[in-house]
Amino acid sequence: MKHFLPFLFLTISALPAAEPDWPAEEQRAVEFLQRYIRIQSVNPPVNSREATALFKGELESAGISVKLFETNATGAVNLLARLPGRDRAKKPLLLLNHFDVVPVDPKAWRVPPFGGLLQDGWIWGRGAMDMKGTGVMHLFSLLLLKKMGIVPARDIVMLCTPDEETGGDLGIRAMIRDHWKEIEAEYVMDEGGFGSRDVFSPSKLVFGISVGEKQVSWLRLRAKGTAAHGSQPIAENANMILLEAIRKALNAPDRGRNSEVVERMRSALQGQLADNKFIRAIQSNTMSLTTLAAGVGNPPKSNVIPSASEATLDCRLLPGVNADEFLSEMKARINDPRITIERLSTPSDPGVSKMDTPLFAALRKAILTQHPSAVVTPILIPYGTDSVWLREKGVIAYGLAPMVIDAATVATMHSDEERIPVSEFRKGLHIFYDLLKSEF
Ligand SMILES: [Zn+2]
Repeated sequence: MKHFLPFLFLTISALPAAEPDWPAEEQRAVEFLQRYIRIQSVNPPVNSREATALFKGELESAGISVKLFETNATGAVNLLARLPGRDRAKKPLLLLNHFDVVPVDPKAWRVPPFGGLLQDGWIWGRGAMDMKGTGVMHLFSLLLLKKMGIVPARDIVMLCTPDEETGGDLGIRAMIRDHWKEIEAEYVMDEGGFGSRDVFSPSKLVFGISVGEKQVSWLRLRAKGTAAHGSQPIAENANMILLEAIRKALNAPDRGRNSEVVERMRSALQGQLADNKFIRAIQSNTMSLTTLAAGVGNPPKSNVIPSASEATLDCRLLPGVNADEFLSEMKARINDPRITIERLSTPSDPGVSKMDTPLFAALRKAILTQHPSAVVTPILIPYGTDSVWLREKGVIAYGLAPMVIDAATVATMHSDEERIPVSEFRKGLHIFYDLLKSEF
């Protein structure tokens, strides 16, 4: 019998790896997501203790080691889990997701915002899209790999952070600053892109993997005038000065510059880019007038001309645009000493992540296995994510929620109808599982 044993092992290892019991695993993941949505990890205030405990329990009972990093005393906890890979010399792949969600207005919701309700093929609730759904895909693909005895090509590290929605000071930025040795990833999979039948192209199923994002430049414009009685109009009305300045600020020349990423999208889609606010926003610098504040008294008096007035502009600049030049051009257009402009954010331009990598190829393959007719392309995204801090650190960052969602569903993010299709959540699990067990 002795001679048979090695032979038996050889035979077993030569067999194709078994597949997980998918219906059962998908069901477990759906139920876990429901439980996760029921945890009200609303930020502010930052508090991820309950969510951390939920994830930690699941990981440790599967035999995956977990480290917690408390970055303040009132509940900011980062969770780091590691599944060792075959080649320890290769730097890890980081799966990055955040525990926190934005606040809700419960009166505006048709369903309980923290109910995790399953209805008509949708999972409802704050965070379903941003980004508890993807977080659970990260977690379960890791758990499944472990359960199936699959050792990934390189270490896989999962980091769940407590404060992405308020800038990441206690989350990704603290981890990069104080605990980078624990991560030191070559790649990160983050939020950002998704699959859609209408957002990217009017006629094709497209999976857009984000490889770069626009720079965030928030500006406050302040006008200084003279206070007076509203019955007698004056030229030094701060509101009128501000209005004129805003008009000039928004009237920026369209440089029509097109990035390498948008060119890649155009060629992947054979020129058929959709025409909508997302696609327009990734092709130019944009400015939105987001706040206006003026008036004397509370409530403000209708018959008083105020001496000061202010507005904020949310400016988003394409990668490669010099934010200082953008600002000085705006000042030159306004050209009014009664206006001051203050920066409310520090724009960062780490550039665009490399697109021709083994990880991108593996991701494409995993997507096509579930969606054979899809076009997979790198995209730019108009909004900011934590990836910006990792790109600054030299990490190759890709953003993807591996689900097909239409423009109307994308728009439910941060809204009172946030939800994801259950069938797409299930497929997303397969995509991440296939990705993590592939060679890259
Ligand atoms: Zn998010």
